[in-house]
Amino acid sequence: MANLVRLIYISRSTSEINDTVEFEPGIALILAKSRVNNRQNGLGGVLYFGNGCFFQCLEGPAEKVDALYQKLHQDPRHSDLKMLSRQKIEQPAFAKWDMKYVKLDAQINNFLKARGYEKFDPYAMDDKTTEDLIRFLKLAPPADQEEPADDEPVLLAPKHERMLRFAVTLSMLSLVVSLGALAVALKIL
Ligand code: FAD
Repeated sequence: MANLVRLIYISRSTSEINDTVEFEPGIALILAKSRVNNRQNGLGGVLYFGNGCFFQCLEGPAEKVDALYQKLHQDPRHSDLKMLSRQKIEQPAFAKWDMKYVKLDAQINNFLKARGYEKFDPYAMDDKTTEDLIRFLKLAPPADQEEPADDEPVLLAPKHERMLRFAVTLSMLSLVVSLGALAVALKIL
């Protein structure tokens, strides 16, 4: 896939969100809309909410990711949007997810403490912690969905597909030749 990017941004919720309850309607609404839209736009990623802050990673075609980031600025449910990074990627880390949602307060706190942070304050995180957090969220169990089945088998590039076809044809030919040789040998004996 050409021109893929990963954009990571943070923001502050403009309303009180109680992230300790099982089902938080504010977040559920964001997720429901995000998943439908993202599926249509070929986008994916992960969302984490803690201590009044959103941390979101968006992956997909550059123009779609950038358009969504512009739209996110208009959304009154959050403010103080800050882009932490935007980079080209070969392979999305969250390819299986329209928008994964992770809710792991104790584990996130341990993760942050191990790196010298007292609480989840993404505005204070350095680049290395941000990258580590993405890896952590990739492995973390999803909060509100089943883990999707593995992706479809990766399609081979046309060049590799031709090579594979050639190898199969060659194997078939050598099998035919061997069987022929065996038949001749049996006749002689
Ligand atoms: P509509 O859903 O019809 O919305 C039209 C307008 O109404 C938009 O300007 C929207 O901001 C506003 N709006 C909608 N619902 C509410 C509400 N409950 N309260 C106040 N204003 C509202 N969208 C995605 O497509 N993908 C994402 O990954 C994604 N992540 C998000 C993460 C966060 C933290 C937040 C706060 C929002 C996120 N959104 C995401 C929503 C995004 O900001 C837009 O609301 C949404 O994309 C608009 O969808 P729509 O074009 O279908 O318009």
